[in-house]
Amino acid sequence: MSHDLFEAARDAMAFAHAPYSKFPVGAAIRAEDGKVYTGANIENLSFPQGWCAEPTAISAMIMGGAKKIVEIAVIAEKLALCPPCGGCRQKISEFASKGTKIYLCDETGVKKTMTMDELLPFSFETEL
Ligand SMILES: [Zn+2]
Repeated sequence: MSHDLFEAARDAMAFAHAPYSKFPVGAAIRAEDGKVYTGANIENLSFPQGWCAEPTAISAMIMGGAKKIVEIAVIAEKLALCPPCGGCRQKISEFASKGTKIYLCDETGVKKTMTMDELLPFSFETEL
């Protein structure tokens, strides 16, 4: 992974809207078009209405016209590693392949690299 994806995720974290949990998270996707799309978690006073950083980045990617995640970096200010939650694993897998790299970062850089298949083995999928 080039350092720019980590920096993009770290920079995105600064945009988190996390007044309730005070748990900012950032995500950065490099898509098949070569562009980097970022996101942060966005909480809501009605707690279930908030969402994670990864879907924000996926939304940016889709609105940018891309459909495929080549690699994704995730960072949380307060965790050494911030693995995507269960729901986000499914969301990421929709736009990833089994070999897509997921980088779990802290504020100094990448701490663990996983593939989509390692992160979500035996994933929900259909033969379309
Ligand atoms: Zn999540």
